[in-house]
This record gives sequence, C-alpha cells and structure tokens, in this order.
Amino acid sequence: MEIIKVIVAGPRGKMGRAALNMIAGSDNLQLAACLDRKFGGHRVLDLEDMPTLDALIYEDPAVCFSEVDADVLIDLTTPEVGYKHTKLALEHHIRPVIGTTGFTEEQLTELTRMSEEKRLGGVIAPNFAVGAVLMMQFSKWAAKHFPNVEIIERHHDQKLDAPSGTAYKTAELIREEREPRQQGHPDEKETLQGARGADKDGIKIHSVRLPGLVAHQEVVFGGTGETLTIRHDSINRESFMTGVKLSVETVMGMDVLAYGLENILE
Ligand code: NAP
Repeated sequence: MEIIKVIVAGPRGKMGRAALNMIAGSDNLQLAACLDRKFGGHRVLDLEDMPTLDALIYEDPAVCFSEVDADVLIDLTTPEVGYKHTKLALEHHIRPVIGTTGFTEEQLTELTRMSEEKRLGGVIAPNFAVGAVLMMQFSKWAAKHFPNVEIIERHHDQKLDAPSGTAYKTAELIREEREPRQQGHPDEKETLQGARGADKDGIKIHSVRLPGLVAHQEVVFGGTGETLTIRHDSINRESFMTGVKLSVETVMGMDVLAYGLENILE
C-alpha cells in the first residue's frame, strides 16, 4: 500500500483537528508535519487535547516545505494564509488539498496557472461534503427549469468569509445554466441596505451567522404556483473528511488543479 505523507496547516482549528483525526484513523495516510502560527518546534502529541500523532510543528511554511518530505498539503486556515501556503506548496512540488475558503477569482486563476506550469495536481474545494456537492449539482440541474432562485447559507459565527465558498460556487454553477437576470420587482428598493442579500449575476445570496450552526445551505427555486428547495446540512466536521481523504488520494495521480470536489468524484 502506498503511504501518502501529509502536512496539515491549521491543526488546532476546528477543521484541522478533524483532519488530524481522519489521518490518525487512516491506514494509508501519515502526518509528516503541521504548520501552525504557534507552537513551532513542539510535537503534535505534546499539545493538550490533540490526537497522539508524532509530527513536528513548524511556524515558517518555507522552512517546513523545504525540510519535510511530504506529498500533500492539507490547508485549513484563513484565506490570506491559505493562499500563501498553496503557492509555496506548489513551488516546493507538494500537492495542495485546500479546504480554506475565501480565495478570489484572481487567486484561483493564478494557482491554476502555477499548477499547470508545474504539472502538479491539487484540489481546492469550497465544500468537501459529498452531500453538498450533490446539492450543488442538483441545483444546477433545477436551474434549467426554474431560473428564479435565491440561496440562503447558514454557518457558525466564527466563519471569516461571506458569502460561503459553497454559496458562491452554487451561484456560479447555476449561472452556467441561465443568463444573468434581475429577480424580484423591477422597481424594488431596499429601505434597509443589504435586505435583499448579495448579488451574483442576479442570484441573491443571504448569509446567516449564528452560534450552534456548522454549515448549511438552502437553494430555493420559485416557479408558477410551486417552489422547490434543495437543502444540505453538515451536522459535524467529519462530514468534510470523506472528501478531504478522497482528494489526498486522488491528487497523487493528477497533474491539474481541480476547483470543486465534483471534478474528482466519479
Ligand atoms: P478555525 O477553527 O478558525 O481554524 C483555523 C486555524 O488556522 C486556527 O487554528 C488558526 O490559529 C490557524 N491559523 C491562522 N493563521 C495561521 C498560520 N499563519 N499558519 C497556520 N495556521 C494558522 O477555522 P475552521 O472552522 O477550522 O475553518 C478553517 C477554514 O476551512 C476556513 O477557511 C473555513 O471556511 C474552511 N472550511 C472549509 C470547509 C470545506 O469543506 N472546504 C468546511 C468547513 C470549513 P489561531 O486560532 O491561533 O488563529
């Protein structure tokens, strides 16, 4: 069995911990190192409440990627940090599997260009839950028949970016099926700014942030005399790890960067 050596960036975070647990329970994945903004020089198992994995923590990504023999970087940090890590990983011939959300279109274009240049595979997925990918695909299909649609996404209140990467990606997929259009009354006016949500090519996106939530989305389609709601709920962060593991395994045989888990699902 091929053992895949993985660096995890953001190991103390909610997603990072779930990734470490996933690695600890995998036969074919090995934690090579972690990248954190604290605890450089410590080992993961020395930190409180962390899985007992024996890997060194680095604070400097360039030193980490130069010193550590690794195949894949899993990044679960913040948009700015994640982008920097992804670029550096590609430069050091380490395949990126990026769960961090909030990259701009320009950043995605630049990372795609770099991966083409290096002929190195990677996955950037705004949502690693298989059910969420199906929700996005079903929404794209439904948009052929129901062009009037709004997206409501709900997340925990520690999330840094809005709208969610999943909501943005859903709007992009729907956009492939319908031309930009104005929805609602042509003379509609917001008496309170933001009341109608963000606008992506005429698709309204509403972001809810509350404690107690994980990651949830409803895509609501309106037709004559009927509505259709497609809904997905991630109840805990383990829901994302099937897709993360599949991506780590799949990038080993890829030479392009895939944006979205759907591109590597069958
Ligand atoms: P989180 O709990 O805030 O974790 C982020 C971690 O990154 C924290 O431990 C933070 O450390 C660490 N960090 C900050 N700067 C760093 C640096 N320079 N180097 C290394 N680590 C650094 O957030 P989360 O809920 O785990 O989410 C992480 C990312 O995953 C977010 O972008 C989120 O939107 C995304 N996400 C993606 C999916 C998906 O399926 N793709 C699903 C859920 C979440 P400190 O606490 O010390 O600042």
